[in-house]
Amino acid sequence: MILNCALDGPGGAGKSTIAREVAKRLGIVYVDTGALYRTLALNCLRKGIEISSEDRVIESLADANVELSYLDGAQRVLLNGEDVSLQIRTAEISMAASSVSAIPKVREHLIDMQRDIAAKNSCIMDGRDIGTVILPNADVKIFLTASPEERARRRYKELCERNEAADYEVVLREINERDYNDSHRKTAPLRQAEDAVLIDTSGMGIEEAVESVISVIKEKTDFFQMSP
Ligand code: C5P
Repeated sequence: MILNCALDGPGGAGKSTIAREVAKRLGIVYVDTGALYRTLALNCLRKGIEISSEDRVIESLADANVELSYLDGAQRVLLNGEDVSLQIRTAEISMAASSVSAIPKVREHLIDMQRDIAAKNSCIMDGRDIGTVILPNADVKIFLTASPEERARRRYKELCERNEAADYEVVLREINERDYNDSHRKTAPLRQAEDAVLIDTSGMGIEEAVESVISVIKEKTDFFQMSP
């Protein structure tokens, strides 16, 4: 039996940390779809393409071969064969990914790849439009959120722990900007699917959030009865 779990929500709600842990405990694949948009954004920045020029961004798709691979359960993303998993984690790429992802042709370019992974693997797939567009028939859909202030606090703490220059107000502003872009774009905006379960992680620790997600999967699917 293949289990497809769609996990959507705004940036910084803890989706990746939680999904990675849920995948580990359930022995399924964790698919971080944001990495795909980030990689296409990185490709544009490297080529000096103006992100605001829709036509040039679309042209750049022709020779941007994006692949996902898994090393000891961890997802790696490859751009034309080069592992760019670390290079895509900057604030500049976060903002650029949010812009390129609003272009319908960019989204189309990545649809089959995401559906193909889900058809072949039990997975928890994190993104913005997984439950609404990519996997409308997912076995279980979860919308994970937290207040912008809580998300900004977590991100700020993370940056401080990595000794990176950080300003809470700037982090909060970027989070609000990205939320606005992601939920106001015409194609596949960030929104909760009607049949998704809402989990608000404000004030929750990681363990509590992981357990909440697992209990929704238990409640909504027979994955636990079916697996050995
Ligand atoms: O999840 P992450 O923050 O890595 O995603 C980066 C950006 O990619 C998001 O702000 C969003 O604009 C875009 N994205 C998307 N659809 C997805 C995943 C990410 O539009 N399924």
